[in-house]
Amino acid sequence: MAHSAVSQVSVAVAVPVGSDSSIRRSVFKVAVLLFFSFSRVCVFNGLQAHTLSFCGTLRAPVLTLDLSTKNARSKKGYTICMSVQQANSPKVAVSPLQLEDAKEPPLNTFKPKEPYTATIASVERLVGPKAPGEVCHVVIDHGGNVPYWEGQSYGVIPPGENPKKPGNPHNVRLYSIASTRYGDSFDGRTASFCVRRALYYDPETGKEDPSKSGVCSNFLCNAKPGDKVKITGPSGKIMLLPEDNPNATHIMIATGTGIAPFRGYLRRMFMESVPTYKFGGLAWLFLGVANSDSLLYDDEFSKYLRDYPDNFRYDTALSREQNNKKGGKMYVQDKIEEYSDEIFKLLDEGAHIYFCGLKGMMPGIQDTLKRVAVERGESWEEKLSQLKKNKQWHVEVY
Ligand code: FAD
Repeated sequence: MAHSAVSQVSVAVAVPVGSDSSIRRSVFKVAVLLFFSFSRVCVFNGLQAHTLSFCGTLRAPVLTLDLSTKNARSKKGYTICMSVQQANSPKVAVSPLQLEDAKEPPLNTFKPKEPYTATIASVERLVGPKAPGEVCHVVIDHGGNVPYWEGQSYGVIPPGENPKKPGNPHNVRLYSIASTRYGDSFDGRTASFCVRRALYYDPETGKEDPSKSGVCSNFLCNAKPGDKVKITGPSGKIMLLPEDNPNATHIMIATGTGIAPFRGYLRRMFMESVPTYKFGGLAWLFLGVANSDSLLYDDEFSKYLRDYPDNFRYDTALSREQNNKKGGKMYVQDKIEEYSDEIFKLLDEGAHIYFCGLKGMMPGIQDTLKRVAVERGESWEEKLSQLKKNKQWHVEVY
């Protein structure tokens, strides 16, 4: 995804897991046709089991788009990738459109005592070799039985026994859903996670201690297509995407896996064709990660920038590669400061602002916002309480 073998990759034709073999055969025929129609072609092993994809910025219309399947290091399936010059692809038709009918978000359809047993569809490493740590894109097939809205989370109960409560299952771990309600398969049957593998390094020796690895994140990152996964939820209302005004401004601040809900929002805004939600506002994403190898879903976001330059802005803070104006490491709050006049103006005009990622991100961001407010002669406390009162302020940190 973030590190494809080709420089311009944006469109893929994909057959979802479990598709009828005749569909797979006809898609393969189209693949072969397109394969011979494009000049610069590279072939490599793809990433999703049972997925045949070809990606590239096509001049011809395609059946289905799938921007989730473009990692050159993928191990399964077959991907034929093409580098072509222009990006101007149509939005993807999604179904079933009944998923738009509900007036309220689904909540806790499955509880920890009776979780839903879903199936792992694919697991893909998202980051490049120079990224510190590993982040995986995990696609879960819930068969359409655990519907959710963008911005919600699922719980996962990892297999095994809870060491603190022998004889009992592990506690539920929450994961923000990184796809729209239609999933990466566009058919309402899957949900995706963006999972950081939690490892433990001994503070004295600096060596990894596998006995203290995070249980659930390692289970998810090590999972194979077909493995079973117990899920609960969906849960959460704080990060739902307000859709009452399709022309609203949404300022999204993410660190690391905090990108998950925003990937879902942005796919809904810019990738899917949903008759009842035509986004005409501004989405502005700030993403903070360690270095360029750690960027998440960068090719999707870069494509939106090319296709929707009036509706999308995308700023990254690479703490180990860039310096802020004081010569220190560049964090998202430094980017916020850089654009503070615009951000404050947009907030005054009713923009929504969202924060998602590790808890540690908030103090630095709040300090920056407070400092900017003071410089502008405003009271941050008053402004914050107004933003909360107007439901413009959305925070989910963990
Ligand atoms: P655990 O087994 O719970 O361990 C937790 C940490 O303790 C690990 O770092 C582990 O290495 C360390 N540890 C284990 N044993 C010891 C020991 N003896 N001494 C010291 N340290 C030890 N995470 C994501 O990756 N992506 C998301 O999108 C995401 N969304 C979330 C949304 C919400 C609303 C919340 C609340 C959390 C979210 N999380 C997300 C975090 C996620 O729920 C888990 O907390 C995370 O994956 C770690 O779980 P684990 O089971 O792997 O680690």
